[in-house]
Amino acid sequence: MINFTVGPVQMNEEVRKIGGEEIPYFRTDEFSAVMKANERMFLKSAYAGKNARAVFLTGSGTSAMEATVMHTLSTEDKALVINGGSFGHRFAELCELHNIPYDEIKLQPGKSLQESDLAKYDRKGYSALLVNVHETSTGVHYDLDMIHEFCEKNEIFLIVDAISSFLADEVNMEKWKIDVLIVGSQKALAVPPGIAILGLSERAVDKIEFIETKCMYLDLKNALKNGERGQTPFTPAVGTLLQIHARLKEIDTIGVEKEIGKVKNLAEDFRNRIQDFPLSFFSDSMSNAVTALETQQCSAKKIFQILKDEYQIWICPNGGELADKVFRVGHIGCLTIEDNKRLVEALQDLVKREFLI
Ligand SMILES: *Cc1c(COP(=O)(O)O)cnc(C)c1O
Repeated sequence: MINFTVGPVQMNEEVRKIGGEEIPYFRTDEFSAVMKANERMFLKSAYAGKNARAVFLTGSGTSAMEATVMHTLSTEDKALVINGGSFGHRFAELCELHNIPYDEIKLQPGKSLQESDLAKYDRKGYSALLVNVHETSTGVHYDLDMIHEFCEKNEIFLIVDAISSFLADEVNMEKWKIDVLIVGSQKALAVPPGIAILGLSERAVDKIEFIETKCMYLDLKNALKNGERGQTPFTPAVGTLLQIHARLKEIDTIGVEKEIGKVKNLAEDFRNRIQDFPLSFFSDSMSNAVTALETQQCSAKKIFQILKDEYQIWICPNGGELADKVFRVGHIGCLTIEDNKRLVEALQDLVKREFLI
């Protein structure tokens, strides 16, 4: 199989090798040193500011989204959620569930956020903004310069889900004054699912200390305290954390820009190759991580099925209303230009066979 989905994605040989090894006991100085290095390298790769901290939760990306809503927001807040698809909707659902007062900016699927969308919410007393910088469900990438400007002007606490954007697009906590940065292990970090990472600004750490919440497993206060000695309150996904360690070391060596460059190069190569197909780009502002494509006269879901069953290629189907209209091709994980060629050849074959019309 070649995997062009958006996660879990293909892993490099070193990461896969670690996955085949025994899991060490973790209440040791050695594992603490690994975790301290993970925190340091993660913060560096996210361009975090002074006194920022990182927390590694055992759970999928959504665990960190929920922990963020519970521990950095309260009923005193007035939150603004950018809802451009299923991940934006998830933030809205979390605010609803945890009684955080919020409003949402609902965007048409495939459409990016405009300054005029934000203008209506200017100087209206909002205290927090939640955004999935890359709304993976539709492939839309939002403009963080614009969002940052709005947040700074309104003194708004900025929560950015960069789960599918970290290591695929520029992500810079300091430059955009991001208070909480949410990252998952199975996207461009390209290790198995199971770990969510939170990058926390000094302001976010202070807020977590201040807000009273009832929660045991996702208690960020406890996680931060344990993290001071390189430990976690409960047994973490030790193996995945060792794989993350290998990846962060690799990125530390080659540089985060170069890592992003690889993804960008794959995305551009693919987008050039499919110019003449009966497909159109669904998103008006694309992340390097994903190309969302709209079909014209055939079912997107059927294309996904045929590629999987007859060509051993996974692309990413869409759910809900877009299921028959849109499929996505990921550019994250251990993929090559050769893989792009194979996918495009398969798509050409589908044109010939009159499935892709
Ligand atoms: C993948 C993803 C998530 C998290 O999904 P999980 O299944 O909980 O790991 C959240 N937000 C975005 C933007 C994503 O791409």
